[in-house]
Amino acid sequence: MIPIAKPIIPEETYDEIKAVLDSGMIACGETVKEFTEGFLQVSHIPYGASCNSGTAALDIALRVLDIKPGDEVILPAFTFIATGNSILYQGAKPVFVDIDPDTYNLDPAEIEKNLTDKTKAILVVHLFGLPANMPEIMEIARKYDLKVIEDCAQSHLADIDCQATGTLGDIGTYSFYPTKNMTTSEGGAVVSINQNLIEKSKIMIDQGQSAKYIHTELGFNYRMTNIAAAIGKVQLKYIAEWTHQRVQNAQKLNELLMDIPWIKTPHVPEGYTHVYHQYVIRLTDDAPMTRDELIEELKKEGIGSAIHYPSVLYDQPFYRDQGLVGECPVSEKAAGQVLSLPVHPMVSDDNLEQIGKVFSEINSKICV
Ligand SMILES: *Cc1c(COP(=O)(O)O)cnc(C)c1O
Repeated sequence: MIPIAKPIIPEETYDEIKAVLDSGMIACGETVKEFTEGFLQVSHIPYGASCNSGTAALDIALRVLDIKPGDEVILPAFTFIATGNSILYQGAKPVFVDIDPDTYNLDPAEIEKNLTDKTKAILVVHLFGLPANMPEIMEIARKYDLKVIEDCAQSHLADIDCQATGTLGDIGTYSFYPTKNMTTSEGGAVVSINQNLIEKSKIMIDQGQSAKYIHTELGFNYRMTNIAAAIGKVQLKYIAEWTHQRVQNAQKLNELLMDIPWIKTPHVPEGYTHVYHQYVIRLTDDAPMTRDELIEELKKEGIGSAIHYPSVLYDQPFYRDQGLVGECPVSEKAAGQVLSLPVHPMVSDDNLEQIGKVFSEINSKICV
């Protein structure tokens, strides 16, 4: 089976972990500091603080921007659950906005009609590794004095005109979960071009502690461990190369799938770097088979695939129970038609050829 995701753990990781274990300093310490500095350097981001998950990073980012109960926060309806939950953690209200059907990212043209006098912030997601339309989103944010948080959980090393995701809004959050483009096992980071926000984030991540045993905020224990950082430090040596491989694999898939008339391959706007956390195809309205049938055909031929995501956030049972509603037809339609194919760096040229061949075979079978 060609898996849809596969974390890569280079051999030297074992030595790095052993060094941490032998040192006795296995919780948060020097290794976390080294990892954080290294991550910021490869990402071309000035300031950041590591923590123990992307979800924790989102929670902290919203808190340091002072999102409060009763505030409204705009977000795309089509994203992972953690994006929406981080708004609920603040007692704030998620306001679901529709996506652009070509990029699957927040549609700037849909934002303004959802603004009220309670709107405080826009939580943008760079879904699948493609940056959202930040130039237009920032213009709206400035016009209405809104804060902008970037959920970069899927966009390591992505940029718009060489400006890294996480530096385009007020604050950004990364995840280092095993299936992401790089990992620390569990892990995350809050990043910004604003040093003050990161200083506040560090305090919130570590028990609200501004100096030893001086607690000035209601903080959390969201600290990354040195063991996680040891895994991450090794990943930093390879992330640029791995990202390049993802982009190459995606280009190869684009070519191989070009002649299949009933699927749409990813769209990348000019000047945007897509880092292909996922390579997402979409079945057309008149596709000759259902998505479930396609998944079955691929599975029979040893090709893993996955649906990111099968439902919009406001259709999740918990969100419905909370009385949260939305009206995002473009998002709902995408949720019914998208399918992710293997694109990670461990997918070989032979694997890609195999994927192309299976699609051609399916196509010729149904077109007779
Ligand atoms: C993975 C992910 C998160 C959460 O990150 P964790 O490290 O798993 O907590 C948040 N948002 C998006 C878009 C994600 O893909």
